Amino acid sequence: MEDVDTPRPWTRTQLWVLLLIPLAYYAGAVFGVRATVMPEGTAILWPPNSALLAGLLLLGFRSAFILVPLCLFAEVAADLPTFTLEQAVAFGTINAFEALLAYSLLRAVGFDRRLSTPADVRKFLVLAVGVAPLFSAIPGAAMYALLRDATVPYLEYVRVWWFGDALGLLVFTPLWLALAQGRQAWRRERPYRGSDWLVLALVPLSLVLLLASQAGRLGGLPFTPLLLLPVAIGVASRFPLPVVSVAVALLATTVLVVLTQGFHPFGTLSAQDAVLAAQEFVLIVAVVPLGLSALLSRLRHQRAQLMNTTARLAELNRDLEARVRERTASLDALNAEWQRQAMLDPLTGLANRRAFYQQAEAAFHERMRHKIPLALILIDIDHFKQVNDRHGHAVGDQVLRAVAMRMAAVSRPEDTLARYGGEEFAVIAQHVDLSGAERLAQRLWEVVRQSPVEIGDGRSLQVSISVGVAACRPDLCDLEELVRRADEALYRAKEGGRDAVVLAP
Ligand code: GH3
Ligand code: MG
Ligand code: MG
Repeated sequence: MEDVDTPRPWTRTQLWVLLLIPLAYYAGAVFGVRATVMPEGTAILWPPNSALLAGLLLLGFRSAFILVPLCLFAEVAADLPTFTLEQAVAFGTINAFEALLAYSLLRAVGFDRRLSTPADVRKFLVLAVGVAPLFSAIPGAAMYALLRDATVPYLEYVRVWWFGDALGLLVFTPLWLALAQGRQAWRRERPYRGSDWLVLALVPLSLVLLLASQAGRLGGLPFTPLLLLPVAIGVASRFPLPVVSVAVALLATTVLVVLTQGFHPFGTLSAQDAVLAAQEFVLIVAVVPLGLSALLSRLRHQRAQLMNTTARLAELNRDLEARVRERTASLDALNAEWQRQAMLDPLTGLANRRAFYQQAEAAFHERMRHKIPLALILIDIDHFKQVNDRHGHAVGDQVLRAVAMRMAAVSRPEDTLARYGGEEFAVIAQHVDLSGAERLAQRLWEVVRQSPVEIGDGRSLQVSISVGVAACRPDLCDLEELVRRADEALYRAKEGGRDAVVLAP
């Protein structure tokens, strides 16, 4: 419960409540004295205590110091024509005790005055409607017994006080609390539809029918007030609690007015039985819609929570999926890069031996399907060991890179130039026959021997290569055989004094 005891001074709204509560108390007391007392004097329902209880719930305990005297004053003003001043003050004091007791009990159990959960409705019913009026009935009934017919047993007065006050608190406390609630409490999440207004219109309609009925009959047909219960349930299932409280208060008071004006809505019963029937009716027509309303409000709240959670989960899931996609994409990119690196020779940047064999296999596959010509060129740098020995390994590396760059410059992009071994290179040339391969080999050979490699300090190295060329014969041809023949041609180039291009027969 909201702690309303601490802040000072009163806000403008609180001042309004302080002013209106005693007025509501006065109106309730006048209504109680005039309209809910049977012609022979039995009270059915006592509404004013609900105003004081609602005021305490709305403003907190400190308001008791203002509200209790003002309500006592209102009680005296309303009672005076019927009772003496002392009697009115005594009744008012017992009523104030009842409201304070109900308030203290509700406060002790952490009651929420919005009455929007079944637990709050239960606390309200047990403590404010059940327990508090029973305790005030003990002194209240003693007062009655002193004032009235001493032949009526004391316990009967206890019952009359208890039931009357209980029903007054039950019907009107939710009404005052509802009227004090902001506009938001009267609204519903879903927009209202035609059928909702139709159900609401049944309230005044059934009240008119009730007022038109006589002795429990309407136009010759039985018409009992209990027929109003479905209307109250209909309102409770479609409208928020404030609307329900107003409808319940209207239904209950109309039945009481009809009864006390002698229209016998429950048929021709004895006054005693009619009072009991009316109290039973008020109890049912208030408790069922209140309970239902709280239950439905709780369900709606839970459904909203569930939908919230589901939406949040879906959002988290989308987030997670996006992150997985992102991570997968970066892994894919990394993987592709690794694969590319795995196919490259780190020193020269050319395809490595593994990539060479992959390309060669693909080329042979292509040749099988389309019968295209295919050739292989093997290249070996001449006397490369001497380069290492004379100038060092670093210069050897530099020469390897330079030779690779020059050869790459004169090869077509579709020829796979690869570093085949230490200082050996190879080219798989597609769509190329032996003479085409020879021309390519000549270009490679020339470009290497024509451009010496700068090795620093103004010095340069003249490098030459030996080249073996083999082309697929039109009949059978496989990689192993092609490599063997190209290797033989290269061997012959070396044998013949190096720095030459030799074709395999
Ligand atoms: P030939 O004319 O008969 O081919 O003589 P060669 O000296 O080139 O022949 P050999 O195959 O005996 O020597 C190749 C040398 O290449 C041996 C090796 O030290 C060197 N070598 C292989 N890979 C690398 C490399 O990555 N960097 C350097 N600097 N040298 C390498
Ligand atoms: Mg070699
Ligand atoms: Mg060599």
